[in-house]
Amino acid sequence: MMDIDELPAARVVSRTWDVIVVGAGPAGSMAARVLAGSGLSVLLVDQAAYPRWKVCGCCVNPFALNLLAGAGLGDLMRRCGAVPLQRMRLAARRHQADVMIHGWQALSRERLDAALVESAVRRGALFLSRTHVSLGSESPHARTVVLHHDNAQVEAAAKLILAANGLGSRLLVSECRGDLGNYPGSRIGAGVVTDTAPDFYQAGIVYMAYGTGGYIGMVRLEDGRLNLAAALDVNFVRQAHSAGGAAERLIREVGWPAVPGLLDLRWRGTPALTRQPTRTTGERILAVGDAAGYVEPFTGEGIGWAMASGLAVTSVAVRAVRAWDPLVAENWASIQGYCRSRCRRLCRAMAWLSRRPTLSRVMIGIVNRLPRLANPLLKEVARGGGYRGILRLGALSDGEYDVPAQAE
Ligand SMILES: Cc1cc2nc3c(=O)[nH]c(=O)nc-3n(C[C@H](O)[C@H](O)[C@H](O)COP(=O)(O)OP(=O)(O)OC[C@H]3O[C@@H](n4cnc5c(N)ncnc54)[C@H](O)[C@@H]3O)c2cc1C
Repeated sequence: MMDIDELPAARVVSRTWDVIVVGAGPAGSMAARVLAGSGLSVLLVDQAAYPRWKVCGCCVNPFALNLLAGAGLGDLMRRCGAVPLQRMRLAARRHQADVMIHGWQALSRERLDAALVESAVRRGALFLSRTHVSLGSESPHARTVVLHHDNAQVEAAAKLILAANGLGSRLLVSECRGDLGNYPGSRIGAGVVTDTAPDFYQAGIVYMAYGTGGYIGMVRLEDGRLNLAAALDVNFVRQAHSAGGAAERLIREVGWPAVPGLLDLRWRGTPALTRQPTRTTGERILAVGDAAGYVEPFTGEGIGWAMASGLAVTSVAVRAVRAWDPLVAENWASIQGYCRSRCRRLCRAMAWLSRRPTLSRVMIGIVNRLPRLANPLLKEVARGGGYRGILRLGALSDGEYDVPAQAE
């Protein structure tokens, strides 16, 4: 991993890259790995210092694990010390139910994302960290971006830019005068990690507490720390005076032991979780992963969706690098739109339920007695939801990825 000031600037700016990937989350790194492996010159850039923490529940579902295996990274989770998950404990208003989950794992985003970046670098991508990217000018044969690092900035050119820069990406907004597509009333995300949590919170179990102003998920990571990630109503956070206060209330409401020091920890937030940007493509730019839109609630699918999107864009990207054609952008926009519309139905139903604590409590009571009722939902998540067909639609370049049977 390199900072831009460790590189001879000429290595970055004196050429036209085939692809510059903005953002080294699961979407960006997967795309960079496959594209570099198929012989394209790839510059992968992230504004964060790696390894970097991010707000996330850190639960990796079987769909994502299948994608890793298909991309030749079947042993990545084991090498990183991921924790196998056996159960999900759901609670609302002092009612709780345990649901068995199969094939899920927990891994910190520091480890997961750094390992994915390393895998892209091993295939030949050049990675720059601590470098913020904004869009530059267009020319008939390339697109420029401005790389901002400390107080310096340089321009770099590429035949294609992949905007893999996550929730609330502004790259295409500036390009198209579109908007971020926030849904009114959308919840915001918040997260923190702590190394002082009661023994009640055991490794191998995902704890999900649903309450009046949102919900929170907690899971032990590979190093024993407890990761907390929440989706919260903005007004609930205001009433509780902070994300930590809101989290404390949600945990108290379900009657689980308090996690000490939640008010003093440094919580990080996200923009509105549900959003559909008006544009997901621009001149020589394609958005992938969360940058192309996200639907709350999180059912442990975002990482898999991001990887699928990053993998599927590669065949479109190879065509775009050969010759840019607005039809390429249209094709990508319709693939993304198709997947998201299939996800939306399930997510809307879940979001509707999560906003009704009394009904959630009744449902949890029913699931407690008949845990098998949760199986169809878990199965749908494990198969990738609306994204399960994306690899086929994107028609990946031969040889760089094997579509595993279960991922289809
Ligand atoms: C509260 C919460 C809990 C969640 N829990 C889960 C879960 O348990 N399981 C699951 O599968 N999913 C979960 N998700 C969803 C998951 O975190 C995301 O869907 C996933 O990280 C998206 O990956 P990505 O690669 O699209 O973007 P990201 O992982 O967000 O990566 C984007 C990267 O772009 C970089 N970047 C941004 N702007 C710029 C710029 N201008 N220049 C350079 N770099 C830039 C950022 O630093 C970042 O590293 C959760 C999300 C939230 C908010």
